[in-house]
Amino acid sequence: MIVTKRIAAVAAAVGLALSGFAGTASAAPAATTDLRLIAFNDFHGNLQPPAGSSGRVTLPNGTTVDAGGAAYLAAHVARLRGQAPNSLVLAAGDNIGASPLTSALFHDEPTVEFMNKIGTDASVIGNHEWDEGYAELLRVQFGGCHPTDGCQFHQPYRGARFPFLGANITFDNGLPAVLPVTVRFVDGIPVGIIGVTLKDLPSVVTPEVVKGFKFGDEVQALNRTSRLLDLAGIRTQVALVHQGDSTEGGGPDDCRTLPGPARQIATAASPSIDAFFTGHSHQQYNCVVTDPAGKPRPLIQGASFGRLLSVIDLKIDRKSRDVVRTATVAHNEVVTRTITPDAGVQALVDEAVAKAGPIANRQVGTITADLVRAAAPSGESPLGDVIADGQLAATQSNQAQIAMTNPGGIRTDLTYTGSPAGEGHGVVTYGEAFAVQPFGNIMQTITLTGAQLKTVLEQQWQPQPNGTTITRFLQVSSTLNYTWSQSGTQGNRVSGITVGGQPVDPAGAYRVSVNNFLAAGGDGFTELAKGTNLTGGPVDLDAFAAYLTANPNLAPPAPTRVTVIP
Ligand SMILES: [Zn+2]
Repeated sequence: MIVTKRIAAVAAAVGLALSGFAGTASAAPAATTDLRLIAFNDFHGNLQPPAGSSGRVTLPNGTTVDAGGAAYLAAHVARLRGQAPNSLVLAAGDNIGASPLTSALFHDEPTVEFMNKIGTDASVIGNHEWDEGYAELLRVQFGGCHPTDGCQFHQPYRGARFPFLGANITFDNGLPAVLPVTVRFVDGIPVGIIGVTLKDLPSVVTPEVVKGFKFGDEVQALNRTSRLLDLAGIRTQVALVHQGDSTEGGGPDDCRTLPGPARQIATAASPSIDAFFTGHSHQQYNCVVTDPAGKPRPLIQGASFGRLLSVIDLKIDRKSRDVVRTATVAHNEVVTRTITPDAGVQALVDEAVAKAGPIANRQVGTITADLVRAAAPSGESPLGDVIADGQLAATQSNQAQIAMTNPGGIRTDLTYTGSPAGEGHGVVTYGEAFAVQPFGNIMQTITLTGAQLKTVLEQQWQPQPNGTTITRFLQVSSTLNYTWSQSGTQGNRVSGITVGGQPVDPAGAYRVSVNNFLAAGGDGFTELAKGTNLTGGPVDLDAFAAYLTANPNLAPPAPTRVTVIP
């Protein structure tokens, strides 16, 4: 950006010298003002740099770079602000909820404090901001201690210094339940920021928390609110949309999106809206769409977990107070870890880590023997079995019939003799469960045909360019059984698949729970990305811990789900 600005300045100086009007031009006030919007989405309480694939960004050439961490994000925000005369920091939802231990233990209060510290101006409400219902969202907004856990982080918790927006969230009587819009003045020019959450929010949270509320059509809510801003003469309008599209891969600034709800919304909504920040699908893309009046406007998303900052540079005409659309420039900035982290945010993160320690020692279950990751010749492991069974149990409300998980997401064994924390033999603490499932992946349930299910299982064998084949055995719930042949060829190894004891019909429909990493086609399981009717669920760790609690004295399951034949 600095380079671009220098080129522009040099060009302007040359132009003025040639035209000979330098004196006249410098006396007139600038006709436009520059505004930089800096946004992140789906941060999910990742105060510490996220681990594994959750902490990497894929670049256009397919290589990856480590990214994310609140203190690094804060440093990048400060740097990006320093390059622009005016800036606003925005969030596209799911910044709290489905969080790692360090934030989740304190009901995400440390994450809200972090967002306060970096000067967040507004956030849309994502589905996860609504996970624990309206009353808890109001507490997060306005402060106060948690009704059951109290103030465990800071006494008192003072709330968010930015509004949570939701123009399409109303009570049953149609009145707004939350603020639909906020207005910030930038260099004397009003900027309207409208938030809308996905209209399908009720399908991705527990039914109790949406009783009494309506989640309306996104485009209608944007248009209704945009019209209010129009009437008030507020012409620079920005949309925060907690809804997103899928992609066919690509780097942070590619636009390889598949047709999806975000593009549909950004194409259809009022031409008064100048830019769309999106979220929810955890994808990276930087697109330009055409509004109903035929003008371009950006549609952008910045992956998740604080790995990217979506930056949109607007040029605003002072006289009309509206955006000069042709001058808009957008990019996704990688939150690299090579920058000096922000000291204030680092101190906040360190405090959360330290205070989480004792709470992590809470008992969540008991086991009768080690639950290990080491697999039988069939590929099945006792710990994998237990995790998949827990994921199935936790997604019953999604009508899940089977669950499958990737072995790479199971990071360590659960041991009977326990951790150095000093608890009794066989006790499993929350911290130990967390060490097994640390990524904060979110459960998702999709519909696959029987034929697709077979393809997924065949994709456990992955031919490599060098002619070898690597295997990635999915860990499956007790409701899925199959046989594979050591002498089988690619695409023809798996047979005898049953779900709930019934042979699988290739044309039948099956509800399958996987984590969001697999649902996006991770680890080479591209067939899973073709699943339909996606419904969200809890964090994988919460599913695991709940299963341990519900099944005390849990013994290692016998490896009888998968059969291997010569
Ligand atoms: Zn979401």
